[in-house]
This record gives sequence, structure tokens and C-alpha cells, in this order.
Amino acid sequence: MMHLARYPRLRFAHLPTPIEPMDNLSRLLGGPRLWVKRDDCTGLATGGNKTRKLEFLMADAVAQKADVVITQGATQSNHARQTAAIAAKLGIACDILLENRTSSTDRDYTTSGNVLMDRLFGASLTEFPGGTDMNAAMTKRAEALKAKGKRPYIIPGGGSNPVGALGYVACALELLDQANSMGLKLDHVVHATGSTGTQAGLVVGLEAARTGIPVLGISVRAPKEAQEANVYKLVEATADFMGLKGAVAKNAVAANSDYVGAGYGVPTDGMYEAMKLFARAEGLVLDPVYTGKGAAGLIDLVRKGHFKGAENVLFIHTGGQVGMFGYTGPFDRMLSGGNE
Ligand SMILES: *Cc1c(COP(=O)(O)O)cnc(C)c1O
Repeated sequence: MMHLARYPRLRFAHLPTPIEPMDNLSRLLGGPRLWVKRDDCTGLATGGNKTRKLEFLMADAVAQKADVVITQGATQSNHARQTAAIAAKLGIACDILLENRTSSTDRDYTTSGNVLMDRLFGASLTEFPGGTDMNAAMTKRAEALKAKGKRPYIIPGGGSNPVGALGYVACALELLDQANSMGLKLDHVVHATGSTGTQAGLVVGLEAARTGIPVLGISVRAPKEAQEANVYKLVEATADFMGLKGAVAKNAVAANSDYVGAGYGVPTDGMYEAMKLFARAEGLVLDPVYTGKGAAGLIDLVRKGHFKGAENVLFIHTGGQVGMFGYTGPFDRMLSGGNE
């Protein structure tokens, strides 16, 4: 049953996040009516989607009397930054394992943006080369901490497990409530998808509520088939966890991987264009790794006529802006005309 009060939850996100029209962008693109849900404004350490997941994950960690949380992500992980912030507030140590997935040696990428904030929050950081088995590395770290008498709690990359996905089941209910009171008939939800918890939670929530609103995840890493399979795996696990076994059909999961470019965290022309369009038409800041590529997909699909003119399309802004400061060199070149 979708009675979320059954699950332990701490309250630190600024909710509900607003839903705003993007009328300038809609006019410029000449497509459907575009809206944005401001999950970049969840309030914790400059915000982002991981905050919703962490309300449930950190409640579980507290219930298990953890004195240290271990998590992992890419160097410019937004999830690591949000975890480090809430761990600091709760007085729990934070042990972050960072994988240099882009193999970048750029000083801004390896030390600014999210990395700077992780350190500000007092998290302990260990770097690993791209391709490391990060789950194995977290297990090993947990064992070493246990041997020292610590009580570690492992949060998977991106906070994407059934407990974390509850944050986006709750978001699905939140946005339905908002749309209903605004008289806004939603035809599509679009967002950037990576570790899958966001999409899995949204799909479970929207499907269990039988809304039929399709969710499209724009992949930032994996190819379409793999991403859809990964999302569906977490959809099933989350539905099972909530006592909703079999509530979601496989065809409710859709991903598009046409906007990944050369790889995770590697800039694309579409991402630069999307970031400039959102900034100059709507005064909104996207991020280079997730929402910039998600919005590049949204823009391209609008141009290709994927949505009908009278439809309402809701883009979920999942945050990540701090990551831009890991890319100041490339952005400077783009804004000086290099990639215009
Ligand atoms: C993690 C992240 C995503 C992707 O969410 P998942 O739940 O990992 O799929 C999207 N946008 C931003 C800014 C993120 O940090």
C-alpha cells in the first residue's frame, strides 16, 4: 500500500518543491507547454534529488544506530555532497569513496564544486580510478570499520535502493497533488536518469496511483536496454518492499540514451546548448552531467515533434549545479565562442 508514513523518515528537505511554467522556452521551441519541478531547490547544501532519498536512508541509518555512513560516487558526485551535509548535521561520520569515472586530471574537476563541499562538511574522501568495483570497495571499507568497533551503514551509489526510491514515490504523490490543485493535466514527465532511484520511485508512485502518466528517463550513462532493465529491477524491488508486488508493468519504464555523448560526465554540444537556453530563456541553471543532458534530450524531442502541441510536459530539475564549477575551463571556452 502506498502509505508512506509506514516508513521511517527524517524531515529536512524543503517540500513541496515548486512547479513553474517555462513559457519563454515553450515559445522559443514552439512545442508543448513546458513546466519544471524545482527539485534543485530541496534545500540541503544547494539541493538536488538525493535529498529526498536521504530522508528515508538516513532515517534507516539512525534506526540502525549507525555512527558512520559509507557511500560512493563519481568525483563530482552530487549524492556524495548531499550525504556529507546531512551526515554532518546528524553527527554521523561520512566516508566517501570517489571514482574518477571521467579520468579527468583537470584541477577544477578533481578539487572544486562538489569535492570542495564534501571537504567543507568534514567527510573523509578516498579516490579510486575509473572502473573500480565500488560496491566491493564499500564492503571492504565497512568490514575494516566494523573491525575497529564502528557501526557503518552503506548507502549505495546515488542512494538507489528501495529505501532511497521511497523519496521519489513520495515525489510522485507530491507532484500529483500539486498538479491536481493547479488544474494542470500532466501528459509527460521527463528527467535525467543515472543510478535509477529517481525514475524507479516516480514510476512506482505514478503507476501504483494508476495515473498512466508516462515517465521518460534521459540516460546520462548506460545504453537504453541496460538502463531500462536497471530501472525496472529497482521498480520491482521497490514495489515488493512496499507490498505492491507486480503493480508495475515492464512497459512503464522508458529510457532514451541518445544524449549521453562520449560518456558519463563528458560534455556534449547538446548539453551546452541546453544550459545556455535554460539560462537565457528562463534564468535557470542546469548542470553539465545530468540535467544539462536531460534537457538536451527534452529540447531535441520537442524539436522532433515527439510531444503534441497541446500537451503539458514536466521536466524534473534534479539539481547538480555545483558540479558546473568542476568544468570552469570548458564552460569558459564555450561562452567565449569555442562551442557556440
Ligand atoms: C543523481 C542525479 C540524477 C540521477 O538520479 P538517479 O536517481 O541517480 O537516476 C539526476 N540529476 C542529478 C543532478 C543527480 O545528481
